[in-house]
Amino acid sequence: MKDYQVIVVGGGAAGMMAAGQAAKNGAKVLLLEKKERLGRKIAISGKGRCNVTNEENVSDFIRNYPGNGRFLHGILRDFDNAALRHFLARYGVETKVERGGRVFPVSDDAESVNKALTAYLTEMGVTILTGITIEDILVENDRVIGVQGTGQKRFLARSVIICTGGASYPATGSTGDGFRFARKLGHHVITPRPALVPLKTAETWVKELQGLSLRNVEASLWIGGKKKITEFGEMLFTHFGVSGPIILTLSRQAGEEIRKGETVQLRINLKPALSREQLDLRLQRDFQKYSNKQFKNALEDLLPQSLIPVMIQLSGINSERVVHQINREERKTLLALLQGLTLTITDTLSLETAIVTAGGIDVKEINPKTMASKRIEGLYWAGEVVDVDGITGGYNLQAAFAMGFRAGRAAGEEVCSLV
Ligand SMILES: Cc1cc2nc3c(=O)[nH]c(=O)nc-3n(C[C@H](O)[C@H](O)[C@H](O)COP(=O)(O)OP(=O)(O)OC[C@H]3O[C@@H](n4cnc5c(N)ncnc54)[C@H](O)[C@@H]3O)c2cc1C
Repeated sequence: MKDYQVIVVGGGAAGMMAAGQAAKNGAKVLLLEKKERLGRKIAISGKGRCNVTNEENVSDFIRNYPGNGRFLHGILRDFDNAALRHFLARYGVETKVERGGRVFPVSDDAESVNKALTAYLTEMGVTILTGITIEDILVENDRVIGVQGTGQKRFLARSVIICTGGASYPATGSTGDGFRFARKLGHHVITPRPALVPLKTAETWVKELQGLSLRNVEASLWIGGKKKITEFGEMLFTHFGVSGPIILTLSRQAGEEIRKGETVQLRINLKPALSREQLDLRLQRDFQKYSNKQFKNALEDLLPQSLIPVMIQLSGINSERVVHQINREERKTLLALLQGLTLTITDTLSLETAIVTAGGIDVKEINPKTMASKRIEGLYWAGEVVDVDGITGGYNLQAAFAMGFRAGRAAGEEVCSLV
């Protein structure tokens, strides 16, 4: 068997970056991937366009990681958004910035990112084996000696970097194997749970709005009757509840509170640009304009068509009332509804359907300077398998690349210093 110095398990964003970096630092590297192709998750990220990073200032970057942002402090400084964009450009992928600082390939093609990473691996001389599932990490006297794949096939090396991802979207290959390895090796795994996941609601009227996307709305999470966080932007109604960027961002905390048994409500302000008084004046103007029409025909200037029947039903005002008969009290009810359409959140969708897995290898057991395990010598962790998660906007891929960069460099340096 060929002799390798560093083995990387998992060919996603973190694993490809780690393998290339280890090789760049002089190590003989083997990258082992369960699926037939590398980068399956990259290929579907950002709806196939791959939101690789965010333009956010590096000093503010870590605020966008509700899961252990501080752990990433030095890691992101080492390989920041500019470094990632520079890296991609070097391998032929020019990037552009969109709304919210989101960075995408100019080609709008996630596969171009995979091609760039593959070109990098080839240039660095990394050996790639796909279609191999690693089942065990081999350790002797608290030092890693290699890995074992299906059919008892062993691959030996001085260092192993585990980049097996989380447990979301298992069809892409990330089925939580790293968590199993970690527990067996004596690492503490913070319970994996869904982050960036759609929310289920008690209200069944959401079904009638399925597919309706609302832009420039404000959604607030209310826990036990108190407002906790507010997000502004775009959301979507689904047959089971709500989704879309601002909902995904709120979902991490919503899920946590539900698991604690708290009552979780979502209040949507459909007109956040207007104060209550301004919206009332606007309503009065519309009611004036449509004073002789039925109520059901008086809201089209204000709301998307599909939302009107639901709002009418929730307002309790008869849809066939002539508008000039609507009294002040009723108008105030409608006003409150427009600025506080309330939904009761019953649950998140499953971990498998989440964009990102929160939880993972406890960061206290990883040296942030090297991504090395503090438990097993020669073992490194990088990417979503680690207990770090960010909001939408390119933060999760940036974190995976940056952790992979650091782990690869450290492992490469370590094995080469031993030669
Ligand atoms: C639908 C979707 C869209 C997303 N869009 C974005 C986005 O636009 N921007 C963003 O920043 N983030 C996005 N994310 C999140 C981001 O893609 C991930 O956080 C990131 O890809 C994680 O990289 P990783 O290398 O740690 O893990 P993964 O990409 O999951 O890679 C892990 C790899 O390890 C392999 N593997 C697992 N177990 C084994 C084993 N036992 N043996 C061998 N190989 C194994 C897997 O097959 C897989 O290839 C999205 C996620 C999803 C699901």
